[in-house]
Amino acid sequence: MNCPLCDAKEFQAYLQPYHWRKTKKVFSVVECKHCKHLYTKDAPSEGEIGPYYDSETYISHTDKKSSLFDRVYGLVKRYMLSRKWNWIKRYVPRGTIADYGAGSGAFVDYLNKLGKDTIGFELAETGRKTAKELYDVELFSPEKLDTLNDESIAAFSMWHVLEHIYHPNHLIETMRSKLVTDGIIVIAVPNPESWDANHFSSHWAAWDVPIHVSHFKQTVLEHWMSKKGFDLIHKTGMPFDAFYVSMISNENKVGTKNPLKSIVQGIKSNSLGRKQNNHSSMVYVFRKGSQS
Ligand SMILES: [Zn+2]
Repeated sequence: MNCPLCDAKEFQAYLQPYHWRKTKKVFSVVECKHCKHLYTKDAPSEGEIGPYYDSETYISHTDKKSSLFDRVYGLVKRYMLSRKWNWIKRYVPRGTIADYGAGSGAFVDYLNKLGKDTIGFELAETGRKTAKELYDVELFSPEKLDTLNDESIAAFSMWHVLEHIYHPNHLIETMRSKLVTDGIIVIAVPNPESWDANHFSSHWAAWDVPIHVSHFKQTVLEHWMSKKGFDLIHKTGMPFDAFYVSMISNENKVGTKNPLKSIVQGIKSNSLGRKQNNHSSMVYVFRKGSQS
């Protein structure tokens, strides 16, 4: 794989995390020599990545609430729905909202219940099925995006989605053409330069190789989006991600989630993250600029 952002072939070694979800196979995260982007050099092709997603620990698509961990995760997820909407409505109070990579449709359902005009896209058939069963929400496969009218969407949201995308240039260019003047894209991605990324190193759960093909540094994402014709208008952290990521990372490292230690580490990551605006996961709001 060449650099997903600039297509350059030249790279240097960066880190070797592993597929903690299932196979424990080691993958190479490298740094593009041209644009400094971090990406998973030896990620399987788009057609072969499917099986790497299957895992009992991958709960974002299933919404099960069996263990205490899953119940807390469920509570946080519900709270985060309102936070997510707040990040959007500050900048675009009205118009159609498109959630790209909608998982099992929880955010689309939340917006529908607020009476918002909403459309959701999800690549995984299991996600689309679950959305129908759980919320009676119809999610579309990603190809549907091409069929939307130009300048018809007020806001796109991608919650931990862009890092999975094999052709991010094409996606962002398409979204830009579908956005109204002054429309926004809200992007949440893990931050490979956060305190917890450094602390856990190759055990850091949010490398999540090989299903994360990109690992966005703040400087790289901002520069790339600016070249795509977007202005950064807001940037903050997702506070709960530091706890979640620390728990999984501890489990990877020592075989147990170690909740108390993870909470302490999450607090540390958040407090350092706030000081430097360098959180475990970052949320960016980009506005469509007047030129591409
Ligand atoms: Zn590059």
